[in-house]
Amino acid sequence: KATRQAVIAGNWKMNKTRPEAKALIEEMIPLVKDADCGVIICVPYTNLETAIAATKGTNIKVGAENCHWAKSGAFTAEVSADMLKEVGVEYVIIGHSERRQYFGETDVTVNQRVRAALDAGLKVILCVGELLNEREQGITEEICSMQTKIALAGVSKEEMKDIIIAYEPVWAIGTGKTATADQADEVCGAIRGVIAKLYDDATAQATTIQYGGSMNAKNADELLGKVNVDGGLIGGASLKAPDFAAIIAAAS
Ligand code: PEP
Repeated sequence: KATRQAVIAGNWKMNKTRPEAKALIEEMIPLVKDADCGVIICVPYTNLETAIAATKGTNIKVGAENCHWAKSGAFTAEVSADMLKEVGVEYVIIGHSERRQYFGETDVTVNQRVRAALDAGLKVILCVGELLNEREQGITEEICSMQTKIALAGVSKEEMKDIIIAYEPVWAIGTGKTATADQADEVCGAIRGVIAKLYDDATAQATTIQYGGSMNAKNADELLGKVNVDGGLIGGASLKAPDFAAIIAAAS
């Protein structure tokens, strides 16, 4: 764990107008400036330029919440990885469960999006996680392992330095139900095992694997204390500067 940097990333989802985004970032900057972990905010497309301008010269990095796999073309309402790169975006979330659940994204398109993001020079926060009924059937590790393997098909060992994996049990996202610290540690550890098999142990040990799912100021300490949990992907709590800062303090 000591060899890996913890990273706390906010996922704003479909929230905040530009003035609201600017105000939230300005409130956040002094609260997170001494963070001893990576700090990323992933914001709606319309807020990217605002967020990049507002975070200039700070320790906060900016990400988008998705990108398309094609370089350009007839894909109404989609945004390409090259477009994000040109705006100055550094990170992109790929495969968030809300994209998989509500917008029909599959492991195959997640893989294509990962490939496109890396080719454009973006860093990826790749989300994997099981549904409640999959956990109840006892197939959590198989599901997360399969999602990870397919998403990383064609990704080289050298490119793994640009991949963060977020383990996000779908039943814990936005529900207020958090996985226990042991559950989070167990699955993050299993995903690390998958990386070791796909690449090698050194790559697995160097890969940042976050937990996401109702992480907040109260439960962050326990979750982040686990050996395989290298940070968090934070939804709801990333929209309140003091809460986000408290999670960052717990990771530092
Ligand atoms: C997320 O959207 O990735 C997430 C973890 O949301 P929340 O923290 O609100 O559960």
